[in-house]
Amino acid sequence: MFTSLSDRLTGTFANLRGKGRLSESDVNKTIRDIRMALIDADVALPVVKEFTSAVRERATGAEVSGALNPAQQVIKIVNEELVGILGGNTRELTLAKRPPTVIMLAGLQGSGKTTFAGKLGARLKEQGHTPILVAADLQRPNAVTQLEVVAERAGVSVFAPERGNIGGHDAGAAGEGTRSFGDPVSVAREGIAHAQSRQHDVVIVDTAGRLAVDADLMQQAADIRTAISPDEVLFVIDAMIGQAAVETAQAFQQGVGFTGVVLSKLDGDARGGAALSVARTTGRPIMFASTGEGVRDLEVFHPDRMASRILD
Ligand code: GDP
Repeated sequence: MFTSLSDRLTGTFANLRGKGRLSESDVNKTIRDIRMALIDADVALPVVKEFTSAVRERATGAEVSGALNPAQQVIKIVNEELVGILGGNTRELTLAKRPPTVIMLAGLQGSGKTTFAGKLGARLKEQGHTPILVAADLQRPNAVTQLEVVAERAGVSVFAPERGNIGGHDAGAAGEGTRSFGDPVSVAREGIAHAQSRQHDVVIVDTAGRLAVDADLMQQAADIRTAISPDEVLFVIDAMIGQAAVETAQAFQQGVGFTGVVLSKLDGDARGGAALSVARTTGRPIMFASTGEGVRDLEVFHPDRMASRILD
């Protein structure tokens, strides 16, 4: 991730080293190089434009300061602008003053929601919380079972609707409660009531995704949101989908609305454009980065550290 972008930018800055002051053509060439590097990394065009014009404005006006040579100054500016594009400050989860905190997950099918539910559950448990996962993805027959498996791996409880005619019993070792396999809104509501009765302080509600943005799916997720008024709605997006990330994120932002973004599959060879575009184009912070299939492959997203990683 970001290797190519990082190499390109480092190369650009190397060309500036040793220069006593930056001519207009130095600045122009640098901006052009940055622009191409961002476009090749799949960053959305409006974000590229905003970024390069901010860098241009600041680099052109920058005085040669005593402490920093021109190259260092440009790197500093690019770094600061990158941090800004990535959302500025690290944003922590908002926990409800009166538990349980309800966290709803939304996103396309295959984006990594279920996997993330387990990771977040494990992380919260490690921090001393008592999370429970709620299986409100009733679209795919396997989704409920998958969440149960994920919960078991993460060592957290799960609330799952009852399947087929299995009839009224517990979902298994990891399962705590079951209800009839009905509509996802009822399951989400029942899951929260169940969590309250068992003193779970965080409820993570997994919802259904489809392979592409779809009106029914949006409506279902929006209905769940209205019914359960979550403290956080986290939109999970696969970093590998590149340019499509922005459009998908905007569709979910309009259709459901979310409070934060989870970038998944950052361990893959995605070029990084999604990460650099989604926060800015939706106005919502990236809160977590999912970096593998294991329960522990989760990082809190720090814009400043990510920017440093890119510019290292
Ligand atoms: P959902 O349909 O949104 O619930 O997506 P899943 O959680 O089922 O994930 C879809 C696939 O992506 C599964 O095979 C996961 O193992 C895989 N996956 C999820 N998150 C990551 C990640 O961060 N890195 C990698 N490499 N694979 C992931």
